[in-house]
Amino acid sequence: MATYEYDIGIIGGGAAGLTVASGSAKLGAKTLLVEKEKELGGDSLHFGCVPSKTLIRTAHIYHLMKNLEVFGLPGIEVPPVDFQKITQRIKSVVAVIQNHDSEERFCRLGVKVIFGNPVFIDPNTIELKSNVYSAQRWVIATGSSPSVPPVPGLRETPHITNKEIFYMDKLPETLIIIGAGPIGIEMAQAFQRLGSKVFVIDKAEQILNKEDTDMADEVMEMLKSEGVVFHLGSTILEVKDLGNKKEVLLSDTTGMTTRIKGDTILVAMGRVPNTSGLGLEEIGVELENCAVKVDNRMRSNLKHIFAAGDVIGSYQFTHAAGYEGAIVISNAIFRLPKKADYTNFPWCTYTKPELAGIGMNERAAKKAGIKYSIWTEAFKDNDRSLAEGEQKGILKMLLNEKEKPVGIQIFGPNAGDLINEWVAVMAGNVTISTLASAIHPYPTIGEINKRVAGSYLSTKIFSDTVKRGLKFFFNLKGRTSCADYSS
Ligand SMILES: Cc1cc2nc3c(=O)[nH]c(=O)nc-3n(C[C@H](O)[C@H](O)[C@H](O)COP(=O)(O)OP(=O)(O)OC[C@H]3O[C@@H](n4cnc5c(N)ncnc54)[C@H](O)[C@@H]3O)c2cc1C
Repeated sequence: MATYEYDIGIIGGGAAGLTVASGSAKLGAKTLLVEKEKELGGDSLHFGCVPSKTLIRTAHIYHLMKNLEVFGLPGIEVPPVDFQKITQRIKSVVAVIQNHDSEERFCRLGVKVIFGNPVFIDPNTIELKSNVYSAQRWVIATGSSPSVPPVPGLRETPHITNKEIFYMDKLPETLIIIGAGPIGIEMAQAFQRLGSKVFVIDKAEQILNKEDTDMADEVMEMLKSEGVVFHLGSTILEVKDLGNKKEVLLSDTTGMTTRIKGDTILVAMGRVPNTSGLGLEEIGVELENCAVKVDNRMRSNLKHIFAAGDVIGSYQFTHAAGYEGAIVISNAIFRLPKKADYTNFPWCTYTKPELAGIGMNERAAKKAGIKYSIWTEAFKDNDRSLAEGEQKGILKMLLNEKEKPVGIQIFGPNAGDLINEWVAVMAGNVTISTLASAIHPYPTIGEINKRVAGSYLSTKIFSDTVKRGLKFFFNLKGRTSCADYSS
C-alpha cells in the first residue's frame, strides 16, 4: 500500500478549509493546509462578510444621524464621510478576527501551513515551489472569485469588485452597481446611505432573484425610498471609459436605451469557482461550470478528493462552507458516511432591515409540488418594533398539509437573528403549537415568531366548533354585545 506524508491535505484557507484543518488536526490527523494568499481567512474575512457587515453598520449609524428627528431628537448638519476612516475601521475589525485565523494558531493546533500556488502532479501529490507534498486524502476549498461576464467594453473599462470596494481611497460620487444579487443590494443601500448616488442594473426583472417576488419587492421599495435608482430587465449594450467618468449604455425590455454616467462601477454579477491552475482536470477530477462536482458526502469522482465551500458552486455562504467542511471531516477522518442535507438551510441579506429565510420559499415549494398555506405577521403590529422605529417589514410562514413549517421568510429588523429561532424549530422538529405556547419575553422583536405561530393556532382554538362544544358542555352564555360600539 502506498504511503503518504500527510493524512489529509487541504487547499484553501477560508471558511471551508479552516474548518477541515482545525477539525482534522484536533482529531490527530497529520494535516497540511495550503493557501495562495499571504494570510489565512479567505474571502469571508478579507473581502466578504466581515468588511461588508462592518461597512453596513457604519452606513446605518450615519443614516440614523441624518434622521435624528424621527426619534424625537434635534436634527443636525451631518458632515460628509471620509471613506479612508471607514476603511481603517474595516481593517481594524478584520485584524482582530485575523488573529483567530492566524498561521500561528493553526500551527499550534498541529496543522502544517504553507503558502503558494499548488498544482496536482498526480491524484495524491501536489507541487509547490519545487517541493512535493503527498496526502492520502485531499480537500479542495479554494472558494470563488467575482465573475466578470463578457459585456462589451466592461473588461477594458476600469471597474471594481468585492476585492476593492471596502478599501477605496474615497467615497464614489456616483456608484453604478451591475448585479442585483445580495452583494449588489447590500452595497447599494450602504453606499447610498453614505452619500453616493447609486444606480443598480440587472437583466432580471426583480432584485434578489432567488427570493419570492413579494419579499424582494419590499426590499427594493425600501432602497428606492432611500434614493437608489433601479434599472431592472435591462441589457447592458456597452460600457465605456470616458476618462474620469464611466458610461453604461442600457436597453430595457421595450428597446428603449438609457445612458448612465458614474465615477465607479461595481461588478457584482455572481461568482466563479476557483479551480483553474490546480491541475484538477489533468488528474481526472470532474468539473461542472468550473465547480468541483461532488456527491452529497462532498466527494468528487475521485473518492479520496473532497471539496467544500464556494468551489462546489451551490450554497455560496460562509455557514454553508463551515457545514460542508464538517461533512468532509465525518467522511474523510471519522470515515462515517455522513450526507449533506440543505432542507433547513438559512440565509440572510444584510440590508437594513434584513431579509432572511430558511427552508422553502413559495417559489421552491411550488417547484417541489408541495401544498402549503401562508401565514403572515407585520412588524408594525410588534410593540418593540414600534418603540425601535423599525416598523417596516413582514414575516411569512409556509405550513405544509401536516401543519409543519416548511419555510420562513422574514423582512424586518434583525431578521438574520430572528431566523435562528426557526433554525431550532425546524431542525428540532418543534411543533407550531409548542412555539406558540413557549413564553417569549415582552417587549421583544422576537415575539413576532410566537405571534405568527399563534395566529395560525387561533383559527383552530377560536373556531365555531370549539365554541359550540364549550357552550354544550359548560353552558356558556355567549359574547356580550356592546351597544355603544355596535354600529
Ligand atoms: C461582498 C461579500 C459579502 C458576503 N457576505 C456574506 C455573508 O454576510 N454571509 C455569508 O454567509 N456569506 C457571505 N459571503 C459569501 C462568503 O464570503 C463565502 O461563501 C465564503 O467565503 C466561502 O468560503 P470558502 O472557504 O469556500 O472560500 P473562501 O473563504 O474564499 O476561501 C478560499 C481560500 O482559498 C484560497 N485559494 C484560492 N485559490 C487557491 C489556490 N489555487 N491555491 C491555494 N489557495 C487558494 C483563497 O485565497 C482563499 O483564502 C459574502 C461574499 C462576498 C463577496
